Amino acid sequence: MKIILAKPRGFCAGVTRAIESVEKALAKFGPPVYVRHEIVHNKFVVESLRKKGAIFVSEVDQIPVGAIAIFSAHGVSDKVEEDAAKRGLDVIDATCPLVSKVHREAKKYEEEDYEIILIGHRGHPEVAGTSGRVKKDVILVTSEEDARNVEIKNSAKIAYVTQTTLSVDDTKKIAEILEKRFPQMQQGLATKDICYATQNRQDAVRSLTKMVDVLLVIGAQNSSNSNRLRDLGEECRLKSYLINGAADVEPHWFVGVENIGLTAGASAPEILVQEVVEKIREIANADVPVSDMNGIVENTFFALPRKVRK
Ligand code: SF4
Repeated sequence: MKIILAKPRGFCAGVTRAIESVEKALAKFGPPVYVRHEIVHNKFVVESLRKKGAIFVSEVDQIPVGAIAIFSAHGVSDKVEEDAAKRGLDVIDATCPLVSKVHREAKKYEEEDYEIILIGHRGHPEVAGTSGRVKKDVILVTSEEDARNVEIKNSAKIAYVTQTTLSVDDTKKIAEILEKRFPQMQQGLATKDICYATQNRQDAVRSLTKMVDVLLVIGAQNSSNSNRLRDLGEECRLKSYLINGAADVEPHWFVGVENIGLTAGASAPEILVQEVVEKIREIANADVPVSDMNGIVENTFFALPRKVRK
């Protein structure tokens, strides 16, 4: 038996920046600092920041007037920004720059009077943030079925943006349906808003599935990009499991298995990968060898928000 690790896997530049923003804020201003929503979708990360003095809240009205408030990597709506300003909060915006780019794109379409379709997952905080960056109603398309049935007021002036962490393949299919139905739609590359980290992790898993008999994806149940990695494994007809960490690993998954594929979503830290490796070794009662697949090395880096740079 052997373990092959996906490359790239785990933290992306946006997640690293968001976590460092909280850590630097704690170091510079002292605890507590308040974080609206999970800074990234990972319980391990949230718990470790909580222990250092971060307080996680669901809305800005739970934050004391004038306190330090950090917005999560998923981004926020204009309304959240306004509410924070009304409370006099000292805001550190850890929104991933690639999410902010989609916000700007949506605003530009609105200024040009386009009706805007947002391809994404209902209820995801990024979708709430992007929808709330424009004043008019955004039309949410979550599936191919939605794309086939969505009603548009003025089909001569429509444009679409997407969530950054979708399945590349599903998004292409949805965009194709929309483009066929609304030929005058402002078109572009269907997957242009899907970020580099999501694309790279999906490409790596697609290659990994050809080398392994089972796929483990470390990531939270509410992590969109991690769910897509598990889905991709299943689409490639591989038994695929989304796990929070080592405690979720089941011995019966490895019966008759030669090669185990292991990856981690963009918000899952490397320590969880190492713990899963140890758990598999414990189950196998052997020093199961581990290797990295051939894959690209990412060197994307985002500067920290100005307030925590020094
Ligand atoms: S997954 Fe992509 S959009 Fe989300 S934080 Fe990472 S780099 Fe940014």
